[in-house]
Amino acid sequence: MAFLKKPKHNTLFYGWPVLLVGTLITMAFTYYSYVSVVNENHLRLDYDSDEIVKQIEYKMNQYEELLLQTRGFFRSSDVVTRKEFARYVENLNMRQRHPEIQAIGFGIRVKTSEIPAHLKEMRKTIPSYTIWPETLHEEKYPLVYLEPFDEINQKVLGYDSYSERHRRDAILRAFETDGTTITSKVFLAQDDIRFPHPGLVLYLPFIKTAPEYFYIAFRAETLFKTIFNGKELPLDVEIFTGTSPDPDSLIYNHDGKFHKNDRYTSLKTIQLYGQKFLIKFQPTALTKNKSVYKAPGIVFVIGMAFALLIFRIFGLTKKSQIELSEALESRDEFISIASHELKTPLTAIKLHTQMVKRNASKIEDPEARKKLYVDHIDHTEILSQRLERLVDDMLDISRIKTGRLSIFKELVDMNKILDEAITRLKDQFRVIPEAKPSVNYGINTTGIWDKHRIDQVITNLLTNAIKYGEGKAIEVTTSSTPTTVKISVKDHGIGIAPEFHDKIFDRFERAGINSKGISGLGLGLYITHQIVQIHGGTISVESRPGEGSTFIVELPKTC
Ligand code: ADP
Repeated sequence: MAFLKKPKHNTLFYGWPVLLVGTLITMAFTYYSYVSVVNENHLRLDYDSDEIVKQIEYKMNQYEELLLQTRGFFRSSDVVTRKEFARYVENLNMRQRHPEIQAIGFGIRVKTSEIPAHLKEMRKTIPSYTIWPETLHEEKYPLVYLEPFDEINQKVLGYDSYSERHRRDAILRAFETDGTTITSKVFLAQDDIRFPHPGLVLYLPFIKTAPEYFYIAFRAETLFKTIFNGKELPLDVEIFTGTSPDPDSLIYNHDGKFHKNDRYTSLKTIQLYGQKFLIKFQPTALTKNKSVYKAPGIVFVIGMAFALLIFRIFGLTKKSQIELSEALESRDEFISIASHELKTPLTAIKLHTQMVKRNASKIEDPEARKKLYVDHIDHTEILSQRLERLVDDMLDISRIKTGRLSIFKELVDMNKILDEAITRLKDQFRVIPEAKPSVNYGINTTGIWDKHRIDQVITNLLTNAIKYGEGKAIEVTTSSTPTTVKISVKDHGIGIAPEFHDKIFDRFERAGINSKGISGLGLGLYITHQIVQIHGGTISVESRPGEGSTFIVELPKTC
């Protein structure tokens, strides 16, 4: 039994509520950080997409400038020949400055009635010239000049821009508004019909005597690649003509991959020269993942670390509360047992004295009365010695605790100390004669120790052997090696269960139920152990319940 009882957990433990609140706060902050990252991403997406739109508009303006400049060139003279136009375009250094422009050209309106004269005129310089494809339209808008007049562009000469729906719309709009227009998605006449590339055509009207127009044709992919400078964009960009992200009207896909719409998909419709374009922006997988989960992740980890830290601090505070309450309970129990232990001999002394007083007056015979007094004094002495031992034990405990258990070493003989202790305990052996120890003395049992402390060790072991020995025989053996002296005290009493073999050397520890009914404070073996340790020695026990115990102390001869 120890004086430690299971603590009553009556103090509230705030650790769990704190952990809960901490977790909730962390989650709130994590969510807040997630939302702000998402918002920030949206802002960035908006910003980046605006930048991209600006780039497109800026570049388109340059092409319009080019058309306006060309129109200015035509206005400045009555007739611009094919050669002059070719030289003009060459001077623009177009292949270098605008490699994305597939062709810049000039077209005129030819009514059905004017076709023969037109063909005749054109075939003077280009015998193979014809207007194509054939249509039933009253008006045709063939391209008559095209630069650079390379193999690919030559194929397009005479192409009737009016023959195809999107081009026709754009040309009509151009004349209607007298401004630049752009087509919806078209396939360039330059390209092999088997391998069509989406393209865009820009028109500028020019009305002198009859409607005429200037034209710039682009392959959409080359155009946008140039606009984006071939750079890696922070966003994936898909461009559609019209207002819906219909795969048929897709003219450009920056990374060539198909992306599903998600919360970051931003759709922007822009109007360029009367034509609507839908641009779909989406952050690339890389930029999106990095930004969305990183910051909230850090917030979560730091928040939870704090919550757990506070939880731990509360836990520790709680632990020390429990320890304090355990210490207080243990102290109270010790005081109650110690008082009981002290009171028992005191009560015995008091009762015995009262009994002697009462009886003495009745005894006439002086000798008999003297004997009564002498017996009483002997009895009182024994009880006082018990009291003294208890108080000494308590004093020793406080000395050990404060490190003041001092020892005075001298050369002493273990056998001699043992004899003296047995003699001192003679009264106890008188009560239980069978317990008088049989001693097996060894030789060379001297050492340099504190005599009184070693006496205390032997007395404690002998007293315990008497107390727990059930009145059976006690055997004491001393022996030595060149460097050590050993003493073993063996009884045949109640024994000690193995789980208590180590514990009994601790303060206030008693070996469970077996020691019940036998008075004691659980201090003797603790003090014994401390004394043996101060002397550099060891103490151990061999015992089994019901089979008695042997306590063995081994001390170095000099320490
Ligand atoms: P106390 O005897 O005052 O309880 P001790 O520190 O001397 O305190 O002993 C601690 C415990 O060890 C005892 O309560 C008892 O349970 C056990 N003990 C000590 N010596 C013996 C022994 N010789 N036989 C059986 N049990 C013993």
